[in-house]
Amino acid sequence: MALLKLEGVTKRFGGLVANSNVSFKVEEGEILGLIGPNGAGKSTLFEQITGFYPPTTGRILFRDRDLVGLRPDQVNWLGIGRTFQKVRPFLGMTVIENVMVAAMQHERDPQKARREAAGFLEIVELADKAGADARALSIGERKRLEMARAMATRPRLLLLDEMTGGVDQRTIPMLLQLIARLRSEQGLTLVVIEHNMRVIMSVSDRIVALHLGEVIADGPPSEVVKERRVIEAYLGDAFVVPTVGDGTGFTGGTGR
Ligand code: ADP
Ligand code: MG
Repeated sequence: MALLKLEGVTKRFGGLVANSNVSFKVEEGEILGLIGPNGAGKSTLFEQITGFYPPTTGRILFRDRDLVGLRPDQVNWLGIGRTFQKVRPFLGMTVIENVMVAAMQHERDPQKARREAAGFLEIVELADKAGADARALSIGERKRLEMARAMATRPRLLLLDEMTGGVDQRTIPMLLQLIARLRSEQGLTLVVIEHNMRVIMSVSDRIVALHLGEVIADGPPSEVVKERRVIEAYLGDAFVVPTVGDGTGFTGGTGR
């Protein structure tokens, strides 16, 4: 049984088709990269999986349970956590308080919630910022705070939207290592949206590529990167096809 399964998901906003008949599976323990140029429909898929918008048509199954019609808090309770492309921590709260708010969904005792929150800050390497106001964090740090908040809701499946967007390029390898550790040490299954294919190749077991709302490729990174439709989708974009087999797949490119 796949952990998550999308079946023919279509989302229309008036005349605009943001997702068109999207079907793919996410297996337990997998890191799936979801790539595509800006506007391909990546974030809209997350919105539908997490109950922010219903699909126009199609089904979304999590452990064989249909999520369509559930509210975001219900989807979260079932075991799906997420981060947002536009990070929005609670400003005016400290970093640890931000994570505590999420932890208290499961843990009512504030002392225990604080200890749990401290553990998640440790994992995302923000322990030294625990007492800082969230507004003092850099973009990369805010993204990691979002990860800690998502993890504090105790998901089995974690959806990460553009973890590297707007982040200092030098910290990208650290973010990728963190993603790999969430799987190996926390046992999470992850779907990671990334605009820059080079960045995602090294960390993903499998990649689903979207273009104009449609799935144009689904397979191992080394194969997806060679697909004609994928290369064409990225033409004119700030993208260079990575050299397959350079060991990492990541060469520190700038993306966009
Ligand atoms: P990506 O995350 O791949 O960059 P999005 O999923 O954000 O792409 O957007 C896909 C398309 O859907 C875009 O054309 C975007 O403008 C449109 N879109 C997304 N959300 C909305 C919305 N709430 N209302 C209208 N159009 C939307
Ligand atoms: Mg997006």
